[in-house]
Amino acid sequence: MARIKKAAVIGAGVMGAAIAGHLANAGIRTVLLDIVPKELTEKEKAKGLTLEDKAVRNRIARTGKERLFKEKPSPIFHKKTADLIEVGNLEDDLEKLGEADWVIEAIIENLEIKQSLFAKVEEVWKPGIIVSSNTSGISIHEMVKERSAEFRSHFLGTHFFNPPRYMKLLEIIPTEDTSDSIVSGMKAFSESVLGKGVVTAKDTPNFIANRIGVYGLQVTFQKMLEDGLGPDEVDSVTGRAMGRPKSATFRTLDLVGLDTFVHVSDNVRENVEEPEEKKAFEVPDLLREMVEKGWLGSKSGQGFFKKV
Ligand code: NAD
Repeated sequence: MARIKKAAVIGAGVMGAAIAGHLANAGIRTVLLDIVPKELTEKEKAKGLTLEDKAVRNRIARTGKERLFKEKPSPIFHKKTADLIEVGNLEDDLEKLGEADWVIEAIIENLEIKQSLFAKVEEVWKPGIIVSSNTSGISIHEMVKERSAEFRSHFLGTHFFNPPRYMKLLEIIPTEDTSDSIVSGMKAFSESVLGKGVVTAKDTPNFIANRIGVYGLQVTFQKMLEDGLGPDEVDSVTGRAMGRPKSATFRTLDLVGLDTFVHVSDNVRENVEEPEEKKAFEVPDLLREMVEKGWLGSKSGQGFFKKV
């Protein structure tokens, strides 16, 4: 079993903050890093925000630690657990990655941005440190194909599901270069320490669960538009009525993040060959328009539903 006492998570958004929470809950000291924004958008200036408001420490305070407590902590989750999480910004704290046993990337779903991040990670990486990506479906091999063979032997996909504390499934995605001992060590660790049910997936577009799940969401969305149904009507059928009180279609999209869902759909569409399948992953204009308006789902306060 992999011996992991210290972890580092890069990206303190919906998934990164919650993965850090899950690790801390399992007693693992975790560093949570994000980027510090260099400038404000016109919209933010109009709202009277300062750069400091946007800075990582504040943002993590909101989306990270606070969120950990909001999500109905288990009886073993208390302040001491949150204290296991140290927050910081990637630029200043890059060398902290070299002190971790496991580095998890959970940044924006974009191949080029992930590739350049892993180039930076390799600068401070030492043999023995496991590195993984939480991508929803980008090729694991492509992300690190320019990295050294030794780095690649320590690299794999570890795909947590949202919210990581409650979703038992974890997909592990090795590449041809990942060493067998890292794969078996991570599987044993994830099952016994993180309480996950691990499935090993091939490095194909969107792996297993999202190839099916995103397809289902897209088909439902396209059908809803054709039939003129509203999100409430769809959710009333696909939620409670099906015994899934919390995971109805549009509430799930809000939870995932509409921008992330668009990136994931685009990725699979660009990487599948069958025209029928390409069509199924076409993102409806309405969804792109919502993202352009900043309606990103629960994380921005407005998606298909307004967060109250
Ligand atoms: P998010 O938009 O909530 O957060 C992404 C974070 O990454 C932001 O805080 C952003 O500032 C940061 N970031 C962007 N570029 C960066 C860089 N170059 N360096 C450091 N930080 C950077 O996204 P999310 O929903 O947390 O998704 C993160 C990853 O997890 C994606 O790969 C996504 O596909 C995957 N994922 C998401 C879900 C979900 O339900 N949202 C589920 C499973 C996997």
